[in-house]
Amino acid sequence: MILITGGAGYIGSHTAINFLNAGYDVVIFDNLETGHIETIETLKPIGHVSFEKGDLRNLDDLEKLFFKYDIEAVVHFAAFSLVGESVFNPAKYYRNNTYGTLNLLDTMLKHDVKKIVFSSTCATYGEPEYTPIDEKHPQNPINPYGASKLMVERIMADYDIAYGLKSIKLRYFNVAGCDEKCRVGEWHNPETHLIPNILKSTFGKGQTFKIFGNDYNTPDGTCIRDYVNVEDLARAHRLALEYLNKENKSDVFNLGTEQGDSVKNIFDACEKVLDKKIPVEIAPRRAGDPAKLYADAQKAKTLLGWQPAKTIEQSIKTAYDWECRLQKLINKESDL
Ligand code: UDP
Repeated sequence: MILITGGAGYIGSHTAINFLNAGYDVVIFDNLETGHIETIETLKPIGHVSFEKGDLRNLDDLEKLFFKYDIEAVVHFAAFSLVGESVFNPAKYYRNNTYGTLNLLDTMLKHDVKKIVFSSTCATYGEPEYTPIDEKHPQNPINPYGASKLMVERIMADYDIAYGLKSIKLRYFNVAGCDEKCRVGEWHNPETHLIPNILKSTFGKGQTFKIFGNDYNTPDGTCIRDYVNVEDLARAHRLALEYLNKENKSDVFNLGTEQGDSVKNIFDACEKVLDKKIPVEIAPRRAGDPAKLYADAQKAKTLLGWQPAKTIEQSIKTAYDWECRLQKLINKESDL
């Protein structure tokens, strides 16, 4: 059985679907602080999935989980991931993302589970010294979120040397899109990410979408990012675990499309896919945004046999379908 922590969240739920479709038995552990119980209900008909509500910061919750299930490997997502929030509330990030993961690793060792795929981030690199960013790029995170994940990467390296715990660290770039069948999707509150924010501004009161800065040193002045589709990303986690099972050695991989898209490019693509004008204005820069981030993902392509397959248009289309569903869900909740 595969343990997926944070499986009620955005990337975790898509990864759960990928493992279930490949025939794995899955147990999801989630405290439902940012994940959703509706997501768990949606996953149940897809395959053999169990759910345990619990918190990484609570060793008893973890102990009960590992006692109850025969866990062979862990795919670990459960984390807080808002960069801005991490700056004014670092304790929340170090306690959950770092200390919580330490609890998880120690419980794994206690139960002789020695394989983990870890959801890391390109935020561990900090301000890029060069692009595309490969895995050898220096890691100097510029916010507590990135630092909380980098600490885990280092703990994992030490736990391999000392205790033989093998880990694959996956450093993602920007994640986009939703399940083709619209069963699960991006459901953050508040939503801070680019594509859902553009799409949200096409609903209801029609809030104007804000471009955070158009005076960056990039061709059109807006920030460049690498938007990888969430289903492609989910598949990479399964490939990473299968690689770990085969090679039994720790490693790290960037996951991105290797293509940089500016905020303006993405906005234009959304208007094109939806075939409508979206209200937009230029707003000041958001603190802590580097001008340009995109991946060199050759290593994942070569060693994991991973290839991102979906286009940005497909990501926008599926994100929009999901957003329509979410709007209905939210409206229904507010009617209750
Ligand atoms: N962005 C924007 N308006 C928004 C949300 C995001 O202009 O409402 C920009 C943001 O400044 C960044 C890019 O879109 O340059 C991607 O931001 P996102 O929060 O999606 O991901 P991040 O790169 O911060 O992980």
